[in-house]
Amino acid sequence: MSEAVVKIENLVKRYKEVLALDHFNLEINEGEVFGLLGPNGSGKTTTINCILSLLSYDKGDVEVFGKKMTPDNYEAKRNIGVVMQNVAVFDELTVYENIDYFCGLYISDKSTRKKYVEEAIDFTGLNEFRKFRPKKLSGGLLRRLNIACGIAHKPELIILDEPTVAVDPQSRNHILEGIQKLNQQGATIIYTSHYMEEVEQICSRIAIMDKGRNLALGTADELKKLIKN
Ligand code: ADP
Ligand code: MG
Repeated sequence: MSEAVVKIENLVKRYKEVLALDHFNLEINEGEVFGLLGPNGSGKTTTINCILSLLSYDKGDVEVFGKKMTPDNYEAKRNIGVVMQNVAVFDELTVYENIDYFCGLYISDKSTRKKYVEEAIDFTGLNEFRKFRPKKLSGGLLRRLNIACGIAHKPELIILDEPTVAVDPQSRNHILEGIQKLNQQGATIIYTSHYMEEVEQICSRIAIMDKGRNLALGTADELKKLIKN
């Protein structure tokens, strides 16, 4: 029996008159690469912010690692790696220093941290750019830096919000292959996208979201059959 890493029940989130999540349900199991597929505005980012307790919601329940998620559930937060839709790194720090900073939020032991930062640099293929500042990186490399910052501390659950938007094909493939590798190393992945080809390529199960609701759930093959019918 695989355990639910994330469990969302009847989640309702309103931004004033906008109903962003409309009794949304989702269960993600340990070891999955789970795809959240939906057009812009369907509620993907809102869902992620609710999972992380970065947003308050109007109704419903969110459990992470079997416990209710709250803003001060630091034990859960330590075990989650987040790669947000908008790149968030420090312009005044180099590639190495940025990854070291974010890793340092969770890993205080210096020698372990050094090892983890090196592994993240290696993993994202940023070695030759380690002394660059973000402004000198292309869009694709910047995304890879954003990913390295989110995963360096080796979290059990990794959430990536549209990590391939505005990325060149080479970086895109690098990112998709990297996600599969992280999963093979044991991480559970939540991946949002508005591209069917991407989620189909890497995800074991996919939920199709629209207007804050879960329209369909299944493997890529199951969903394609559903669409045909
Ligand atoms: P997605 O990530 O799938 O593009 P979002 O979760 O960002 O979707 O948005 C879902 C809905 O909520 C959209 O209608 C969007 O306009 C609205 N929304 C998102 N964030 C805010 C906000 N801070 N204030 C008001 N409305 C918002
Ligand atoms: Mg979004």
